[in-house]
Amino acid sequence: MPKPPAPSPKPTPASATVTLSPRGLARLKSGHPWVYKSDIAAQNAEPGATVAVLDQRGKFHGTALYSSASQIAIRMISRETTSRDAVPDLPSLIAQRIREAIAYRKTYVQNTNACRVVFSEADFLPGLIVDRYNDVLSLQILTQAMDAEPVRGAIVETLIAELKPEGILERVDPRIRELEQLPPRDSALLWGKKSSTIITMNVVPEGPSTELKAQSPKPNDQRRTTNAGVSFHYSGLEGQKTGAFLDQRENYAAAARYAHGNALDIFCYHGGFALHLAPVCTSVAGVDSSRPALEVAEKNATLNHHDLDWIEANAFDLLRDYADAGNKYQTIVLDPPAFAKSKRDLHKALSGYKELNLRALKMLQPGGILISCSCSFHVSSQDFQETIASAARDAHKSLRVLEFRGATQDHPVLLNVPETAYLKCLIFHVSN
Ligand code: SAH
Repeated sequence: MPKPPAPSPKPTPASATVTLSPRGLARLKSGHPWVYKSDIAAQNAEPGATVAVLDQRGKFHGTALYSSASQIAIRMISRETTSRDAVPDLPSLIAQRIREAIAYRKTYVQNTNACRVVFSEADFLPGLIVDRYNDVLSLQILTQAMDAEPVRGAIVETLIAELKPEGILERVDPRIRELEQLPPRDSALLWGKKSSTIITMNVVPEGPSTELKAQSPKPNDQRRTTNAGVSFHYSGLEGQKTGAFLDQRENYAAAARYAHGNALDIFCYHGGFALHLAPVCTSVAGVDSSRPALEVAEKNATLNHHDLDWIEANAFDLLRDYADAGNKYQTIVLDPPAFAKSKRDLHKALSGYKELNLRALKMLQPGGILISCSCSFHVSSQDFQETIASAARDAHKSLRVLEFRGATQDHPVLLNVPETAYLKCLIFHVSN
């Protein structure tokens, strides 16, 4: 087995500075950790440097990570301002923040051996994402500062010490490396031997908490997902797209609390919703346009001893054909990819959501359940709700909100950073 990387050297405190324009300073004071290139008045920093952030009078406002390439020129890493000497040693600070992020998960994440361990700004580690898939860790490095060798060393070393994985791999998004002007790199195992594993989520806890539930049954409690949880194959270095949508984990369990009858999981990927609906529905079909995704979904169905239908199709065409044919369902999940990648796409995205929801609502019988998701940050909660409301009016259906949901708590929403609140998962009861 390769040796863990050597302890990282202690760099000297940053002498580089970035001076903000008044608009940059106002943004910083609003609590957001990013300042754009256009709001920087002056800088003397190397790419990826740790910089002291100053206003135009020379007052120190904290420490940031600098990118020479990104439109987001600095991302704050510390607002400690007692003295300029407080500029932190970056590898030690990152190690400390990773330990804190892990402690946060230990407190708030339950019933799973897969979760996001580090979520960039939301864990005060801008540019770093770490996902845990049972005994395999997968990390993504998104900025120049996080790509520096001493920082990489500190990340891997801390993860080994704290989580004792069998393998740590890095997933590379070549487009991001290009945008950050970083040299190309392949996705690869960084440490250990293991890059594939089985993850299990939504195990119903046993013991006193189960007894408590038995004394005060909720309407759908007898239809819970299995005690053993739901398992998925995870293959960190294979396939066109890897990983699970860990942010939906608790939404799968929530959907299973209401789902019944015959169900469609539209945009099913590896079957996250479908496999949770299987124990509580009479039939479940998953739809996706990606054959490789459906092949994994089928392997996951076998792993969980379910026999489900997987349909390779364009969701828009399939919903139109099924709605025109008069097909009826009791449960429909819509979890499309992000339709709005930027603000400019908003109008088109909203019409996409409207069409999907309208067709699904036409097929849902009275008493049916619609689980409708959007992971586009640029589509606000309000826009999304209004779009579904408009679809409901056109379909002549009334919707009652059972749950307004977001991402799991291992994808924390940082109140000053709206970008961290991207996922919407709404569960509705449908009537005529
Ligand atoms: N519900 C999934 C995540 C869905 S991600 C989960 O919880 O794991 C979005 C999925 O939509 C991807 O698997 C992608 O292959 C699929 N997709 C994208 N465009 C599509 C289209 N037009 N029709 C059907 N599937 C599509």
